[in-house]
Formats: sequence, structure tokens, C-alpha cells
Amino acid sequence: MSTVRLTALAKAARPPCLACDAALSLMGCDAALVMLANRVPEAFPLCRACRAGVVYLLHFARPYKHARHYIGWTRDLAGRLAQHETGSGARLLQVVNDAGIEWRLSRLWPGDRRRERALKRQGGAARCCPLCGVRPRPIAGLRSDGPARVAMGVPA
Ligand SMILES: [Zn+2]
Ligand SMILES: [Zn+2]
Repeated sequence: MSTVRLTALAKAARPPCLACDAALSLMGCDAALVMLANRVPEAFPLCRACRAGVVYLLHFARPYKHARHYIGWTRDLAGRLAQHETGSGARLLQVVNDAGIEWRLSRLWPGDRRRERALKRQGGAARCCPLCGVRPRPIAGLRSDGPARVAMGVPA
């Protein structure tokens, strides 16, 4: 088989990626959080590029002061989210946890720290947050069709 054909096959078989594939991202984050709750870090399907780093958006169930979101960048999504769960990853998440506010992974973007800074600078995270306007449900009650349908703007 020629190299060209092998390359084409490799492209066709691109592994699913929570960050690159928007539809998968919207559905997959729920599943990923369930896995996170069960401590199964390999549950985050990321392509090779995104495994080198990904920008993530956390949505708080209710605002902390004026903050309703947290944007971060990590090379280790599962590990980073586990840190945030214990409040050791970032000061904001620590106080959010202390206030008893639930949060959820809402969205991922492929990209590096420049992308993270750009997203933070642009502000208004709510405008790109699939969960905004929706009261997040506890992990145990997650259904993969809920947030995806809302995020697509299709009436439930
Ligand atoms: Zn990717
Ligand atoms: Zn939000």
C-alpha cells in the first residue's frame, strides 16, 4: 500500500477528540465528568495535538461574586480537573469550592496558552458557554442529550 494511501487512511481514522469535534465536545464533557467522578482519567478522548494542551471552560452553577466561569489551559485535563475538585489548582476554584458552588466542564478548545489568553481577554465567557442559562444538573443525573440540545439552540 502506498504511503499516500496510508496517510489518507490515518486521516480518516482520526481518533475522536473532545476539543476538536464540537458536537462530541458538547456531549462528551458530560461523559467525561462522570468518568472523572469515578476517577477514570483515560475517559477524555483527545487527539494527539490536544494532548499537548487544551483550553477548558468551567461553568459555575451559581456566580461567585461576579465570576461565573473559569478558563484555563492544561496538558493534563483529567489531572487538572481533579486538582480543581480539591481546590488546589487555582485560587478561584478554591473559593468556589469553599462556597459550595458546583461547577462543570462546559467546553474545550484546541490551543495553546495564547488561545487561553485570547479567550480570557475577549471576555463574556457566557457567550461561548453551552451551559449558560441552563441550570447544571448533578453528575449523577447527567444525560448526554441535554446540554447538547440546548447548546445547539434547538428548543428542548
Ligand atoms: Zn483535538
Ligand atoms: Zn456558562
